Amino acid sequence: MNITHIEHIGIAVSNLEESIRYYEDVLGLKCYAVEEVKDQKVKTAFFMVGQTKLELLESTDPEGPIGKFIEKKGQGVHHLAFAVDGIEGALSEVEAKGVQLIDKAPRKGAEGLDIAFLHPKYTHGVLMEFCENKNKS
Ligand code: ZN
Repeated sequence: MNITHIEHIGIAVSNLEESIRYYEDVLGLKCYAVEEVKDQKVKTAFFMVGQTKLELLESTDPEGPIGKFIEKKGQGVHHLAFAVDGIEGALSEVEAKGVQLIDKAPRKGAEGLDIAFLHPKYTHGVLMEFCENKNKS
């Protein structure tokens, strides 16, 4: 398996607009995209920090994964996403090593990336995501 870098850090927020203001006005970062991912019942906002992104996630449905996360734990870091070369291979490798997968096969996430989540019970408490940008040559 080849993890190349941390692609993004997913952060659950209760109000996307207010959080964008914090990241822009206080931290001086620039939000370069806002996107709704209907499948995941979230609205996302992206910031570039070096080669790593911050992905703010606001729930569009209290029954969605971020809605439930915020209800249980409040706002905060939600997941860590690794960029991998060959996402299918990386998934079967961790599965063969005993890690349960939330997504057995990659699906489309924000920005058209292929993404898949690993179950946090098997990753020592951190919800982990693998992603690969197959649009890039
Ligand atoms: Zn993510």
